[in-house]
Amino acid sequence: MKPQEITTICTSDLGGQTRGKGYPARDRASRLEKGIGWTPTNSMISPLGPIAPSPWGPCGDLLLRPDPDTETRIDFGDGSAIESFVIGDIVELDGTPWDVCPRGFLKRVLAALEERHGLSVRAAFEHEFAYFGVEPRDNSPYALDSVRRQGRFAETYLAALDKAGITLDTFMAEYGPQQYEVTVGPAIGVTAADQALIVRELARAAAWRQDQQRVSFTPLLHPDAVGNGVHVHFSLFKSADGAPVNHDPEHEHGLSETGGAFLSGILAKMPALLAMTAPSPVSYYRLKPNRWSAAYNNLGYRDREAGLRICPVFDEAKIASQYHFEYRAADATASPYLLLGAILAAGLWGLDRGLERAKVYEGLPQDFDDTHNHALGVRRLPTSLEEALDLLEADTDLDDFITADLKSAILTGKRFELSQVTDLTPEQRCERYARIY
Ligand code: GLU
Ligand code: MG
Repeated sequence: MKPQEITTICTSDLGGQTRGKGYPARDRASRLEKGIGWTPTNSMISPLGPIAPSPWGPCGDLLLRPDPDTETRIDFGDGSAIESFVIGDIVELDGTPWDVCPRGFLKRVLAALEERHGLSVRAAFEHEFAYFGVEPRDNSPYALDSVRRQGRFAETYLAALDKAGITLDTFMAEYGPQQYEVTVGPAIGVTAADQALIVRELARAAAWRQDQQRVSFTPLLHPDAVGNGVHVHFSLFKSADGAPVNHDPEHEHGLSETGGAFLSGILAKMPALLAMTAPSPVSYYRLKPNRWSAAYNNLGYRDREAGLRICPVFDEAKIASQYHFEYRAADATASPYLLLGAILAAGLWGLDRGLERAKVYEGLPQDFDDTHNHALGVRRLPTSLEEALDLLEADTDLDDFITADLKSAILTGKRFELSQVTDLTPEQRCERYARIY
């Protein structure tokens, strides 16, 4: 009997889970054209499984409409089933975008950035994760032996990324036991977020093909563990001619007026944005000072604990095109579309308002008191998801993009998720999320 390949049309939902529906690959042409049925309440499925109170109940019909540019088909060549999926947009039956679709949200922001300011975005995601097919050892940081001991996983994973058309930048053993990091090259607009989804899923796919091993992108394996961050590198360029607009050689730290206004928007909104960029109960055990993650909404110049940082450029001759920024207050419990969209919506708000160029913070915020920090517009980021959700609810500046339906779905869904883990200790929460992500 000849196996029948299955392709799944996927969406990265509000909890960053990749879900979808499949069809036999022989129907590819017709499915690429018409998509597959979907229901609004699917957006209320929490990462924990149960469904949050849904305004739609069993009613309503939508479509998951695939974007052929994202077709991913990997034959691992080991006799296992072909890995086959394509990313879709959730649309109304007449094809108009559905407000609550995370990919649609990112597209709305990108379109407004281009329309209002003639700008586009180049972005690259850096992911840290745990691979459980290797023994946990204390002496593993950046160790060559940690690369060796993970066996064939990395080779398989990197080959799959290559096959998926994703440019790998680096792969390494990170600081924590069983922790690895994968960084891909920059991509434009929505493709950057598509690639982040593919990077996560192919890590799972490659691990599964090593005797059914697992990876986890959870922010923390246990409350005191080394964190798994997602760091989003990004820069702006003119849509018309591709010219970069981030760097100004005349300015201290090289930050241009445009780049500076964009960063000011992100810094101002970062506390509220956390509800979309670090959106799980366990995310907040990671976002603490002295953890090399991000605990304040400060702009660092080459500081790896700042919420936002200006990255080093290794080739001074190419400084204008290589000068870029990194958002660090994020993890993989966020859908890459909500994550990138939230950052860009806030930056766009900063540009629209013509905010003053962001200032680089000198020193570490935890070494100064609130009076000093607040005078500089710097505050401790929310210390819980509850706090971040309240801030997101209260902020109305980004409502053009985070529409009423999207915002209410996020708030209801996330508050429901919190209600499901209130009785769990931090250790139990971390264990639970490690299995989910
Ligand atoms: N693991 C750190 C985090 O939680 C990041 C370390 C690094 O700078 O790569 O974000
Ligand atoms: Mg790292």
